[in-house]
Amino acid sequence: MKKSTIVWIQGITCNGDSHSFFNYQNMKNFAKNFEIIYHPLLLSDFDLQGVMKSNDKYDFLIIEGSFTKKAEYVDRCGYSFEELVENLSKRAEHIICAGSCASFGGLFRQRDEENITGALFSGEEAGGYWDKNKKVVNIPGCPAHPRWIADTLFMLREGREVLLDEFLRPKEVFAYFVHHGCLRNEYFEWKIDTKEFGEKEGCLFYEHGCRGPMTHANCNKILWNEVSSKTRAGSPCLGCTEPDFPRDNVYETKTHMSLPATPTGVSRRAYYTITGIAKSFKIDRLERKLIQ
Ligand code: SF4
Repeated sequence: MKKSTIVWIQGITCNGDSHSFFNYQNMKNFAKNFEIIYHPLLLSDFDLQGVMKSNDKYDFLIIEGSFTKKAEYVDRCGYSFEELVENLSKRAEHIICAGSCASFGGLFRQRDEENITGALFSGEEAGGYWDKNKKVVNIPGCPAHPRWIADTLFMLREGREVLLDEFLRPKEVFAYFVHHGCLRNEYFEWKIDTKEFGEKEGCLFYEHGCRGPMTHANCNKILWNEVSSKTRAGSPCLGCTEPDFPRDNVYETKTHMSLPATPTGVSRRAYYTITGIAKSFKIDRLERKLIQ
């Protein structure tokens, strides 16, 4: 089977999704199946001009970074980012928005008072500009996990159906919550919070702002660098795969009448009742250090 072709372009970005993707563990197999025609960190302006001047069709357009109509972001070999997207998206079989900025606008959308910076194809409610029923897959994350991008590319290359949720995210990755598979679940059940960042013990939900129970991603199923995740390392999930990322005060748990938000899909009254009961137990085993 012939290699699938990829053109990767960037809007306003920190390059995080590119660097994350370059850490994909099975790059040798990737290179056997895909050819990158253009990537701003790997190839030159000359290559981009070649792509823009040709009428060639290719398989994947990957977009990284927020979309903007701001005048100062017009120079990519003489093309504005808007021109690049308009031209290239028509010739791509599939469009993938890699990372939270391309998917939902991310950090840069928040900082734009003129409201002309945001996501690309996600629909108005998520800040999107173009919702023209193009074949788009959003793979949010700050950054997106390399496996999320690679697995989606392979599935589409092989003609397999990629089921998407309401924000165009692959369900295979985003049907899960970060909370699923977190090693701190037992502490969550008994409402025992961690004392400090980096500790092995305790849950980060009650005082440290963890968004694991309401953030769609499989970070505790497909681990980062095949080794760890934020919550395994003792840092809260910041909710970076959701359209409202980033929120203010990400390391603080917002409370209402000193009670934290309820996990997605759980009745508030039932949750607070269970919390009260769980907290009334004192489980010595869970109060101790795991390794002494
Ligand atoms: S640290 Fe976060 S993801 Fe882990 S159990 Fe607590 S709330 Fe869930």
